[in-house]
Amino acid sequence: MSGLLIVGSGHAGLTLAREWRKRDPDTALTIITADDGAAYYKPNLSKSLAGGKSADDLVTASAEDLAATHQATLRARTRVVALHPQHKQVELEDGERLDYRDLVLAHGARCRELPLAGDAAGDVLHVNDRLDYARFRDALPAGGHVLLIGAGLIGSEYANDLLASGHRVTLVDPLAWPLGTLLPQALGEDLQAALAEAGAGFHLGRSVRAVHREGAGLAAELDDGTRIAADVVLSAVGLQPNVDLARAAGLDCGRGIRTDTQLQTSAAHIYALGDVAEVCGHVLPYILPITSSARALAATLAGEPTPVNWPAMPVIVKTPLLPTIVCPPPAGAAGAWQVEGDAQGRIARFVGEDGSQLGFALTGSAVRERGRLAGETQAPQLG
Ligand SMILES: Cc1cc2nc3c(=O)[nH]c(=O)nc-3n(C[C@H](O)[C@H](O)[C@H](O)COP(=O)(O)OP(=O)(O)OC[C@H]3O[C@@H](n4cnc5c(N)ncnc54)[C@H](O)[C@@H]3O)c2cc1C
Repeated sequence: MSGLLIVGSGHAGLTLAREWRKRDPDTALTIITADDGAAYYKPNLSKSLAGGKSADDLVTASAEDLAATHQATLRARTRVVALHPQHKQVELEDGERLDYRDLVLAHGARCRELPLAGDAAGDVLHVNDRLDYARFRDALPAGGHVLLIGAGLIGSEYANDLLASGHRVTLVDPLAWPLGTLLPQALGEDLQAALAEAGAGFHLGRSVRAVHREGAGLAAELDDGTRIAADVVLSAVGLQPNVDLARAAGLDCGRGIRTDTQLQTSAAHIYALGDVAEVCGHVLPYILPITSSARALAATLAGEPTPVNWPAMPVIVKTPLLPTIVCPPPAGAAGAWQVEGDAQGRIARFVGEDGSQLGFALTGSAVRERGRLAGETQAPQLG
């Protein structure tokens, strides 16, 4: 049966399925996914420890329910291992080949692996899906100590969630303040102070070079030789798009699978969406751009060519200890931060060389200015 085939049942794949079905109730839809196919809201993975939520508590719909809702064939625990664009087919692990009319690659990103030494390097955990979360939660002793590698968005959110759920936390990051690539110094230091006041320890300007077994637990060894004992080591050093399938099939890839404004890859009838995609040079692994892209792609696939049109899309950082919102400037944009306010609330604007506002960040009481700042910010340039 040849119709629309979606690889991946994350936010990208499922939002596209829903939006496309609204426009095309008849054409066959197949969703292939490596996981169990259950729907959940991924941002909840870094805010659910405090609420005592298990991985199963996060499920919002089963694979069976989703298949019925979207009138789809949903094949869970099934991995696509090769693309054959010249035959308009994908290949599964058991060698089976499936035809498509149009193929959407929405198979996400994976956690970056650090080259760590030590006999417990393999025990380092990361969280990028519900099963990772289950593994992490199971490994956490009540009141235990977690060493977080990375004080970026996910690391800082986990620090807040772990502290709120009665755990001890130490963060290690090579940058000088948390969210060092997203926040200017003053706002990053405010966030550090808020987390530290709640009990977090920081080793900034440092990296972890090895993880060892020590007694019943672990010990992280930093690049200056410091050893930090911990019950669990969680790595939160960022994601890398899963480009291997596409690259092996000859599709143009950079950081992600490269697409034009209509999410069309370099191969006919193949589109990329979500964390896996690099849209006109932008990799935006966040919910709002994915939702908006899925709507545009649904229209395109239903015969109404529609370019992606992203407004400025702020991301709420889930650190209630210091409410924080970031709308990062495009990667590599030339310009400088201009910061106003104090530790109670700061507004930071990233101003480009031509004077236009390319991004912003807000903390504390200033988060209520989100709408105004988003309106002042230039949308990412596409195409
Ligand atoms: C802890 C955490 C917190 C976050 N918090 C926020 C937030 O607060 N706000 C925000 O905007 N964003 C947040 N994000 C980012 C956001 O959740 C992601 O950008 C988004 O969920 C990615 O969706 P996706 O569908 O592109 O990828 P994924 O959700 O990774 O889905 C990929 C799918 O592809 C499947 N797959 C992979 N390989 C194959 C294969 N070979 N064959 C078949 N199937 C395959 C997987 O099983 C999965 O179903 C967070 C991310 C994390 C990890």
